[in-house]
Amino acid sequence: MDTDYDLAVIGAGCAGLAAGVYGGRAGMKVCIFDKGKAGGQLLITHKIENYIGFSDISGPDLAVKMLDHAKEYSEVKEFVEVEGVEDKGDHILLRTTEGEHTAAALLITTGADHKHLGVPGEDELSGKGVSYCATCDGFFFRNRKVIMVGGGSTAAIEALYLDGIDVDVGIVHRRDRLRAESALIDDLDKSEIPIHFNKRVIEIHGEKRVESVTLECTESGEHTKMEVDGVFIAIGLKPNDILAKQLGLEMDEEGLVKVDAAFRTSNPRVFAAGDLIGGVRQAITAAAEGTIASLNVLPLLGKQYPW
Ligand code: NAP
Repeated sequence: MDTDYDLAVIGAGCAGLAAGVYGGRAGMKVCIFDKGKAGGQLLITHKIENYIGFSDISGPDLAVKMLDHAKEYSEVKEFVEVEGVEDKGDHILLRTTEGEHTAAALLITTGADHKHLGVPGEDELSGKGVSYCATCDGFFFRNRKVIMVGGGSTAAIEALYLDGIDVDVGIVHRRDRLRAESALIDDLDKSEIPIHFNKRVIEIHGEKRVESVTLECTESGEHTKMEVDGVFIAIGLKPNDILAKQLGLEMDEEGLVKVDAAFRTSNPRVFAAGDLIGGVRQAITAAAEGTIASLNVLPLLGKQYPW
């Protein structure tokens, strides 16, 4: 069947945009859909120091470079949401906010969203002092006291960013050591950012805005109250798996889509890459996964990449 596209990509993050470059250059008609602006997690990443060739670039700047590059070889539809996908046997049907499209193959790179703590006050005070993005909201907390919850690389990067713009930030972590990458732990050691180990946030208080948090010591169970103006939460990601579920793709116990070495899912017409499949979750690995997936679409079209 003649389809609108050889390859439809859902999600214009690193994985999706790289697939656009490689898929287009391999002769495929590729369209990348994103419900928002292209860039994915890059858009909320203050600084990137480990994308090979870029030792110091802002996430949004790298996103623009990737988008411009992808546009040379594929169509990119920003602010077009794919609301439904259906396997029609010989093609994939996409229902989007601008109408229906068909594609011979589908690559899902819908990424992941921030996990929530699930404590009282968190949802009520979200946007009123509770934030999941220091790059977006940090500016409003200059010379004010906040905590950063989490012990991973994101928490470390975001705490360092806040410290750099004169936010009085302390890290609250539930264990006795961080899991952030060691270069970031070194940077934290060099900073004056206090780290409250073995502490869990059990409630966020405030009338109109965040005023304080209750912390529980994971060793003694003791509760203490800390006055803060903001609570930044960076405790990991949960996959955006709604479309993957619609297609009935196989997933693991964490809700990550299972793929083979070609990034093919349990449906031979559907590929997945990036944070949706887990792994080391780096911008560069997402780009590589999208690349490999796009080239493995060729056999579906009766073509062969010259491996
Ligand atoms: P992450 O590595 O999964 O770390 C999440 C942190 O939040 C952990 O320290 C975890 O504690 C803590 N946590 C989880 N649930 C919690 C809860 N309910 N209450 C309190 N604390 C909780 O997440 P991430 O930092 O967002 O990173 C995600 C992925 O991106 C990782 O693979 C990371 O390597 C990668 N990344 C890399 C870079 C880089 O530049 N290299 C930058 C950002 C992200 P425990 O430690 O006790 O489990």
